[in-house]
Amino acid sequence: MEKPTQIAVIPSLGFSHLAPILHFSKRLVELHPHFHVTCIVPSIGSLPPNSKAILQTLPPNINPILLPPLNLNDLPQGLSIVVQIHQAMRLIMPSIHQTLKSITSNTPHVAMVVDAFAYEALDLAQEFNMLSYVYVPSSATTLSTDFYLPKLDQETSCEYRDLPHPIQVPGCVPFHGTDLYSPAQDRKSEDYKVSLELCNRFLRADGIIVNSFLALETGPLRALKDKGRAYPPVYPIGPIVKNDTDSAQGLECLTWLDKQQVGSVLYISFGSGGTVSQEQMNELACGLELSNHKFLWVVRAPNNAYDSAYLSKQNCVDPLQFLPSGFLERTKEQGVVIPSWAPQIEVLRHSSVGGFLTHCGWNSTLESVVHGVPLITWPLFAEQRMNAVVLCEGVKVGVRPRVSENGLVEREEIVEVIKCLMEGEEGRKMGKRMKELAVAATNALKEGGSSTKTLSELAQLWKNLA
Ligand code: UDP
Repeated sequence: MEKPTQIAVIPSLGFSHLAPILHFSKRLVELHPHFHVTCIVPSIGSLPPNSKAILQTLPPNINPILLPPLNLNDLPQGLSIVVQIHQAMRLIMPSIHQTLKSITSNTPHVAMVVDAFAYEALDLAQEFNMLSYVYVPSSATTLSTDFYLPKLDQETSCEYRDLPHPIQVPGCVPFHGTDLYSPAQDRKSEDYKVSLELCNRFLRADGIIVNSFLALETGPLRALKDKGRAYPPVYPIGPIVKNDTDSAQGLECLTWLDKQQVGSVLYISFGSGGTVSQEQMNELACGLELSNHKFLWVVRAPNNAYDSAYLSKQNCVDPLQFLPSGFLERTKEQGVVIPSWAPQIEVLRHSSVGGFLTHCGWNSTLESVVHGVPLITWPLFAEQRMNAVVLCEGVKVGVRPRVSENGLVEREEIVEVIKCLMEGEEGRKMGKRMKELAVAATNALKEGGSSTKTLSELAQLWKNLA
């Protein structure tokens, strides 16, 4: 019998850095069953339930190895999420090295595929005779910006947000400096240093695998293929999204959706860890109520740091207690609120859902694209503002609410964008374009489709090495 082709994948910390690389691994072994994947899983403390759940659903040819968990107290406190993950991954690197040594001692592995924040593992590839790849679970626009950042850094003396002109990354929709990913918003910060280091390291990988597809990001993907550029080969293999729920939480909302009219419900979620301030939560609640539209809202306890619920869970507090007084009673016929977590795939797949107010995390973005649901884009942090530009100005499938001078999206603005998406002619056109993108996504993934072919090329290259 043919020996399996072995590869190792190395996620970084947190559900949203684990799930995408596992979905990629699943797609690889589904299309190429002779592959075997060893997934080396780091964690801080015990794994969160959603991460545990996803590890339990892996096929037999994906083998997870759980590293000894890092203690949160081993990390300096008060760090940003970017630096926290970066420092934690640095502490975990010796365990990764040890595990690679042990798994390759009997069974050669031809390649490693690492999450962006596990980039230091790329330096170990040579020692174990492996090729090194980065899996970028975000947009090609983000990847292009990563490649462009070292140049932009050299050419710019001010903060990017103070640039008088838009930033023109090759092939991408030009965007304002304020929309550049958050680590680059303060060039003196540690976050920025980490990002630059990461971008420079990417350039020396053997290849970059990106979860996007041609119809969604034609400009950047074409530019990335330009022969003249000194980039590693880029493999667009998306959109890879999970196809079922990985948690039993919030399933009762599906029964409520069953009773609603087709396309009538706005789904609201800020991803796996996004939060808004108490004031913003009040505005959102009032905006939803005033819009008179049906809604399904995943509510998380408010916090002024947008990414507060990321690595640490804030489960103990009931998020519903932060809603405006009487809101639940007044809107009981209009909407449903779910604390913290919804079965997002089932929700987006449901015919009653006609729009998605999203923080523009790339997974949520692709899940919406695959299910043809147009968007209200409400970016919070990371590269989400750039994703909002791709969606609203690139493929024009979303509307972005205006943020007032006080930093809030006010209730009147919320009503306006909801009406635009759910009632207006503009919203109808966005819906139509999103449906077309959904068809393009299906085509990219079918046999002979662009993303399937790209993944097969990569698999063949690895197989030849085995
Ligand atoms: N998700 C979910 N239910 C929720 C919130 C999020 O299933 O209530 C899933 C969602 O389907 C997506 C992921 O969590 O797969 C969020 O990833 P994304 O990249 O959109 O945002 P992030 O969590 O990285 O900010």
